[in-house]
Amino acid sequence: MNIRLLGAHNCESQHTRFATLLIDGTLVLDAGGLTSSLSLPAQQKLKAILLTHQHYDHIRDIPALAMNLYLSGATINIYSTLPVYDVLSDHLFDGKLYPNFLELPQENPTIDFTVIEPLKTKQIEGYNILAVPVNHSVPTVGYQITSPDGKVLFYTADTGPGLTDCWMQVSPQMLITELTNSNRFEESCRESGHLAPALLKQELIIFRELKGYLPEVVTVHMNPGLEEEIKAEIAVVAEELNSPIILGYEGMELNL
Ligand SMILES: [Zn+2]
Ligand SMILES: [Zn+2]
Repeated sequence: MNIRLLGAHNCESQHTRFATLLIDGTLVLDAGGLTSSLSLPAQQKLKAILLTHQHYDHIRDIPALAMNLYLSGATINIYSTLPVYDVLSDHLFDGKLYPNFLELPQENPTIDFTVIEPLKTKQIEGYNILAVPVNHSVPTVGYQITSPDGKVLFYTADTGPGLTDCWMQVSPQMLITELTNSNRFEESCRESGHLAPALLKQELIIFRELKGYLPEVVTVHMNPGLEEEIKAEIAVVAEELNSPIILGYEGMELNL
């Protein structure tokens, strides 16, 4: 499994993009940093997009991608849970902001949307997919992706602490987790459903107690303004856990 971090931050700027993961060039997790990261031919190779939740930084590029695919006659499969689909169909694919690519072109709409249920495995483009609820300010799922050759990735999506139930459902070799803030924002993390290094440490300790191991850990969704603080604090956590934690950046490639 080849994983490319197309976006690794929670804010967009010249050098940062919204958290978006590309797996083996065909499967996408979240879509906030998609079109500006990929050439048109690379966009046409995409087979499916899995959305974790409705927040703008995770869905932003779907209309732009759909326009590109529409113009070339291609289609894309998009998957999410029902609450995400409801918000997107009410507010984004309503034909007011942009064409409704759920219905256009009439004979073969550009977007083929499928609603999935949490905690039920589903085969998507050859991968075994499991959506697992996490703790964010709106209904959100992380995704466990198992490749045909048995490699297992779990992407937490945006989440706050309290992941014990989630950890019970997954057994990844690699964990791509959100890490938005530095420790001085711990309280606001608890309120808004995000993680800081000290909070992530607690969750990883629970993971290790439950599972008896720690996966390879990579972080995304970092606040670019807090990067130096987060870097210093996560280095301490990695040392305390005696396990490496990699800060993800745009363009980083990971192999499982
Ligand atoms: Zn969010
Ligand atoms: Zn976000």
